[in-house]
Amino acid sequence: MTTLCGLYDDAGDFLNGGFTREFALAVAETRAPTRMGRLWVLPYRPERFRQWAAHLVAHTPNLRAAWRQPVAEVLRAGARITHLNELRVGAVIDCSGMAVVAQAVGAETLATDARTQAPATIFPLRNVQRACSSVAGMAQVLLPLARAGFPPLHLQPGLASGEFTAKFAGPPQQVPELISFLQRQVSGFARCETLPEAIVQAARAGRMIVGRQVLTGADVLEGRKFPGAVARGAWPIEQWPEGRPPRFRYLPPHTHYEIPPGCLQAARLKNLFMAGKCLSAEADAIASARVMGLCLATGAAAGVLAAASLTSTGLK
Ligand SMILES: Cc1cc2nc3c(=O)[nH]c(=O)nc-3n(C[C@H](O)[C@H](O)[C@H](O)COP(=O)(O)OP(=O)(O)OC[C@H]3O[C@@H](n4cnc5c(N)ncnc54)[C@H](O)[C@@H]3O)c2cc1C
Repeated sequence: MTTLCGLYDDAGDFLNGGFTREFALAVAETRAPTRMGRLWVLPYRPERFRQWAAHLVAHTPNLRAAWRQPVAEVLRAGARITHLNELRVGAVIDCSGMAVVAQAVGAETLATDARTQAPATIFPLRNVQRACSSVAGMAQVLLPLARAGFPPLHLQPGLASGEFTAKFAGPPQQVPELISFLQRQVSGFARCETLPEAIVQAARAGRMIVGRQVLTGADVLEGRKFPGAVARGAWPIEQWPEGRPPRFRYLPPHTHYEIPPGCLQAARLKNLFMAGKCLSAEADAIASARVMGLCLATGAAAGVLAAASLTSTGLK
């Protein structure tokens, strides 16, 4: 069990409707969001997310999926991409997280700051027999780990009692040692366990594509609005420095920012669009806009923009 972040404003209302809201509700474990500190998040199970995505792919007319085919060759003629892996293309949406299409055709990209977007190891933790909901309760768990020299651990409560999603700043190989320490040294964790096959390492860092507009950290923190905006966000700027606890910079209360269409269209290529972690944004701005609620919203918006570009050029 984990959570979809970035879907809600601080009143717990959806920031983006349409596909984003429909997809989130289709995969949700609960109809209403749950509180995580000052934020609202929606619990979901990754299996359900995968199943629903597969269902949509299978039932969308005229959609052909090509799984496990890395981007190999991208051809460009002037300001247009013409072919991708030998397929003739009218428009391309780069949502590779690493701007692989943009880099293949020499489009300008921006890197995230790897020092503040360190990777993490994610795993489920079960059979925990103590409440960790209060700050003081969590501190009693995390302090012994810090004193013993373990990298920071973040525990996100699941819906079932005793279940957590752990986000650990150490490598996957250190998880057995961490669990053994918790079992021996922290009260309530004597019977805690994980599923070894569910331990994954996830990269926060990515690469953004420079678009017609670039979302800035100030746009996020000041809740800036744009004409013709295609998505809304209110998630804080999340920084995860290597080996240190995370830092969250929040928007003012009752505020959200907007994402203009120019952040989803490459600056110099007419038919390259982007979404998710490839959004045209500074490192600070993507540290807010990379959460999955916003990936759903920018992905849907990029699809609409790409389709409109085909219609306007007569390629559809
Ligand atoms: C440790 C950690 C915890 C997180 N926790 C949460 C959370 O609780 N809630 C939340 O909402 N968000 C969370 N996030 C953020 C969120 O998961 C990511 O930012 C988001 O998934 C990014 O989505 P994306 O589609 O842009 O990129 P990705 O999810 O990285 O997807 C990119 C896709 O492109 C494919 N690809 C890459 N290169 C190629 C290539 N050369 N050819 C073909 N395909 C390619 C990849 O296989 C992948 O399928 C977390 C992130 C991390 C790292």
